Amino acid sequence: MASIFTKIVNGEIPSYKVAENERFYAFLDINPLAKGHTLVIPKQETDYIFDLQPDDLGELMKFAQKVAVALKKTIACNRIGVAVLGLDVPHAHIHLVPLNSEADMNFRNPRKEFSKEEFEAIAEQIRSNF
Ligand code: 5GP
Repeated sequence: MASIFTKIVNGEIPSYKVAENERFYAFLDINPLAKGHTLVIPKQETDYIFDLQPDDLGELMKFAQKVAVALKKTIACNRIGVAVLGLDVPHAHIHLVPLNSEADMNFRNPRKEFSKEEFEAIAEQIRSNF
């Protein structure tokens, strides 16, 4: 069965797209730790990120770097934090989280809430800086 992220890539489930190329897709996390929290995925479904071919993992990280640069231009923060968990969704993904302190990267923190309009505006701003 296709992962929820494959359904997002195929447009079967909506997402707030941040960036895309032929092989990779970036979109806002629906339960963000911070404004601009973005997920970067390979379009081709692989469960575990370290099962990717080394070149594919490198390309994924290069794409995530471009997204992180756009994110940093868009959201006022000290750094863009990077995390890989993959405990909930079995489709390799990199979390990019705008950070001001170490505590902002705690995945047990309560998630931020944004309206559809706010999510759309955030995604649009990041897209325009990509
Ligand atoms: P992980 O697998 O890295 O532990 O967590 C999965 C992440 O994906 C979570 O931060 C969760 O909020 C996000 N997520 C789960 N389902 C969806 C979805 O349908 N859409 C979006 N945009 N994010 C999702």
